[in-house]
Amino acid sequence: MSMFCFQCEQTAKGVACEISGVCGKNAETANLQDKLTGRLIGLAKGGAQGADDYKTIVDGLFSTTTNVNFNDKILNELIEAVKTEDIYDMAHLWGADEDIRSLKSLLLFGLRGMSAYTYHARALGKADEGINKFFVKGLRAIGDESQSADDLFGLLMEFGGINLKCMEMLDAAHVETFGHPRPANVSCNIEPGPFIIITGHDLHDLKLLLEQTEGKGINIYTHSEMLPAHAYPELNKYPHLKGNFGTAWQNQQSEFDNIPAPIVFTTGCLMPPKPSYADRIFTTTVVSYPGAMHIGEDKDFGPVIAKALEFGGFAQERKMTGINGGNTLTTGFARDMVLSVADKVIDAVKGGNIRHFFLVGGCDGAKMGRNYYTDFVKQAPKDTIILTLACGKYRFNDLDLGEIGGLPRLMDMGQCNDAYSAVQVALALANAFECDVNDLPLTLVLSWYEQKAVCILISLLSLGIKNIYIGPGLPAFISPNILNILVEKFNLTPISTPEADLQKMLL
Ligand code: SF4
Ligand code: SF4
Repeated sequence: MSMFCFQCEQTAKGVACEISGVCGKNAETANLQDKLTGRLIGLAKGGAQGADDYKTIVDGLFSTTTNVNFNDKILNELIEAVKTEDIYDMAHLWGADEDIRSLKSLLLFGLRGMSAYTYHARALGKADEGINKFFVKGLRAIGDESQSADDLFGLLMEFGGINLKCMEMLDAAHVETFGHPRPANVSCNIEPGPFIIITGHDLHDLKLLLEQTEGKGINIYTHSEMLPAHAYPELNKYPHLKGNFGTAWQNQQSEFDNIPAPIVFTTGCLMPPKPSYADRIFTTTVVSYPGAMHIGEDKDFGPVIAKALEFGGFAQERKMTGINGGNTLTTGFARDMVLSVADKVIDAVKGGNIRHFFLVGGCDGAKMGRNYYTDFVKQAPKDTIILTLACGKYRFNDLDLGEIGGLPRLMDMGQCNDAYSAVQVALALANAFECDVNDLPLTLVLSWYEQKAVCILISLLSLGIKNIYIGPGLPAFISPNILNILVEKFNLTPISTPEADLQKMLL
């Protein structure tokens, strides 16, 4: 075994990547990421505190998430920057009792997910001492061999609440900086002339790119998790924010093949670039790939702009579609928008026009079984509403599902972190109907791929939300005993077929 990693859904044989990563990460990079994590645990055990230590922890954890940092040079620099003598050997974790390893992995991968949200909030001037302190507490617990399964389970539930607070902080940062999202129709077509594609989750980087390209005759297209940007007033006020390019992350190697434009990766999900477009990849934040040009903290997008002008874009308009052949995507149904029509929603439920809500959200990925989500949405009865978020929606967000009493049947609430918005809507509905969230006509049908999905799932469980369906497969790091606990306590259910699941959900 030359490496050990089982943090994402595409892990080798559904068990662990032990020779090289299915994601393209090699053993050396994986071992450096372990070394970095071990040092961060050492730093936490030594009593990390203060803005510098918190930054070291957040940047370090973010760099170890799936499809973010493949660059050994940068990882070595991050390792050197962790000032500690106390280095935790990750072999202790990977070789621990199966249930302890499972609980500690849930915590570690959840912390990795939360580090991304903390990073984006920090870029917009937000920080929270309670969240920062929990990074230290959580890492310390991972390195503490005396933690029992009960201790760790309690800590996980505490973490769920902290991560919800973190998503709330990021939501506030987005709304205060860019305004409340409002519904937007987004074209899939690419206009003639120079353009730049921007992907990932960092709206601050998008804003800076829009400012720096203003008046230069360059159009900006969002990709994947950047789609919700079109709904924010302070972003869509730029007329050169034109539309959306392509679908979810796993299709990038075919969609970016030989396009006449640069691509900016602000976060995951970066796949190893093919030679046909490697010379046009730019990275920001903690994203890094050997040979790809990095835009540093000065956020000077000049080299990207020069590349866009050099390649010049398409000579004629390029008609594009989503995976089901639709040409327009909609977004912008975050909490403020949905709650502004709450009366309409409540009347439609009471009048029997809306039978059920499904939150079909989460990550996309390459597995065949993910067609489940497309089929599920297509088969959902016409008197049901589909709420969605994160990049899994590209399986169905170009479908025209029609309306119920003026409300669109498909409502995109935003990025994965906008799970916070979904929780707020669910709590408001429960309040209006004077019932528990679990008694609402609402089912969560989640797709997971990487660590942000892990922290969101833990937050949902910590809120006591039951009957969540999860797929396309269960995480390799959840042991049979821990799964039994999650099933018993929360009725966490693996997806089966859309037909059978819909029948159960609509009973
Ligand atoms: S991130 Fe996923 S694919 Fe990559 S090495 Fe880890 S488990 Fe394997
Ligand atoms: S939601 Fe997850 S899988 Fe999708 S692009 Fe973001 S990090 Fe990647």
